[in-house]
Formats: sequence, C-alpha cells, structure tokens
Amino acid sequence: MEDRIRMVHGSGGSATNELISDLFARAFQSETLDRMEDCAIVAGTERIAVTTDSFVVTPVEFPGGDIGRLSVCGTVNDLLMRGAQPKYLTCGFILQEGTSIEVLRRVAESMAETAREAGVQIVAGDTKVVNGSGEFYINTTGVGIFDGDRSRLDICAAGAKEGDAILVSGNLGDHHAAILSGRMGIKNQIVSDCAPLCDMVERLLAAGIHIHAMRDVTRGGLATVLKELAEAAQKTFTLEQELLPITRQVQDFCGLLGLDPLYMGNEGKLAAILPGEEAERAVSIMREAKYGGNACRIGTVTAEEPGRLLLKTRIGGLRSLDVLMGEGLPRIC
Ligand code: MG
Repeated sequence: MEDRIRMVHGSGGSATNELISDLFARAFQSETLDRMEDCAIVAGTERIAVTTDSFVVTPVEFPGGDIGRLSVCGTVNDLLMRGAQPKYLTCGFILQEGTSIEVLRRVAESMAETAREAGVQIVAGDTKVVNGSGEFYINTTGVGIFDGDRSRLDICAAGAKEGDAILVSGNLGDHHAAILSGRMGIKNQIVSDCAPLCDMVERLLAAGIHIHAMRDVTRGGLATVLKELAEAAQKTFTLEQELLPITRQVQDFCGLLGLDPLYMGNEGKLAAILPGEEAERAVSIMREAKYGGNACRIGTVTAEEPGRLLLKTRIGGLRSLDVLMGEGLPRIC
C-alpha cells in the first residue's frame, strides 16, 4: 500500500478497491459490510432515531482523541440525547489527495474501537477522493432504536418543567481548549473529553430517572445549549456560577486568551433537565458511570421569565446569557 492518497484512489477501480479492502474493511470488519452490497439491511423497531453530522476538525489527531473517535461520539451522543439506543452507523470519508494512509489507518481503527465501545455497528460507508492538500473529512449518520422500556420515552427540547434541576455530567470546555491549544502550539495538560455517553444514559434510564430534556454540550457550549432549551420550553433557567465544573487548567487557558468557557464545546458531556427531587440520585448515578466522574447540579428551572438563561455570579449578580453570537471565539469545527 502507498503512503499517500492519490486521485486514482477515488477512481472506482483497482486502487479504490485496494484502499477499501486493505484499510476500511479491515478496520470496520463486520458481517454486514463484508457482503459488499449496495445497502445494508438491518433489524429495526417501530420508531427509529436518525441523525447525521460532518467532522472537519484539524488537527485530525489531538490529545484525548482524533477525528474518527469524534465522528462516532458526536453521532452516538446525539441519538442518546433523545433516549434512543444507538444501533447503526454509516461513515463517508472525503479524502483530499495527499492524505497520509498511515494517519487514515489510525483514524479508521480508532473509529472502529469507539464504535465497539458504544455498541454501534458500522453498516455502510463511502469514500471519495478530491483535489487538495492532504486533509480529510468524515460524515457519519447514526440510527438508534426505541426498544422495550424505551418505546414510550419522549425526551425533547421543550420538555423542561418548573421545579426541574439542571445537571451537567462533568468539566466544561475541555475539548475546545485541547483543540485550540494544539492549533496554537500551546503546551499544556488539557485533553479532549471526546467520549460516547451510552453507559451514562443507559444507567439513568434503567434507574427510572424521568429525564425531561437532554443535550450533549458541543458547538456553542453550555450557554448556547441551555438557552435553546429554555426558549423551547418557555421556562427560566438559572445557573449558579460557583457550581459550574471547570478545571483550573481550562480556566487559566480561557483567562489567557479571553475566552468564556460557557461557550466552549465539549464532546463527551451532557446537560440534563429532570425533576428536582430526582437530582441527587441522578448525580450519583452519573458519577458512577463512565465519563461522569464530575457530574453535578448547576441550576434550577422556574417560570417567571420565559425563555431566559440567567447566571448567578459568584459576587451575587445576575447575568443574562444568550446563545453564542457570530464567531464569538476561534472555531474548532
Ligand atoms: Mg447534540
């Protein structure tokens, strides 16, 4: 096998076949894919959840993950946020000429490993080669099912109710800070939190926690995610600044660059809105789950100012927060 992707790898001929059989089929090996049919036929249920996302992050490998792991986590987490059980994944690779085959192989293997961890099967894929300078992008589509007890779930953006608690599953801003550090050549110990949240959601549902609304905290950060949920439900979300979990390192990094961690993306954190009386139990379940070690309650839902997201500051002030406006901070995807 060669070192770099060339245009001929996208020709549909023998070079394409070699790339698929030697690299992708090897990494994603499964009974469904091995059939090499035009489409996969898989088992389903009455209601299915579907989501799609494209991943364009640079650098493609970063502390704590890579574009392959990210593409599985981003898609799987979106399915989980509505209570679906992630089942199937498709992946499309857009490869620029000059892409390193070695890097691509590592990314494909990491993707396969993350899919195994999340319990999803990669059932279809596509590769295209375009002109360029050695970068590549991944699109993933995910399908989730609502089996058994999940069949009656209705976790949705407008679900928040008065008296609900606002929970977050861990430290904010890590992914965003890790990518920016890498890109700016800043040396620190910050690692991306990129992770599939299957175990955590599974435990919450199995324990009978009544989740009203749930979002993974990605692009736009916690403030954007919660402002959207407050608007959808026409409720007031109030956060306590001193309860927000942010590591010293991320705080220092943000201070240095003048960034607000409330608007920085994670890739392995969720915010959940659920009945206040279940909050304590939910926090301890999340803390026992993989990737939920720093879960905590950060705020409360009330009804007096519909659609507003408020932050009670450490010194006792009340700040109104909006969604991320324009290019508020250096983009990472
Ligand atoms: Mg999402």
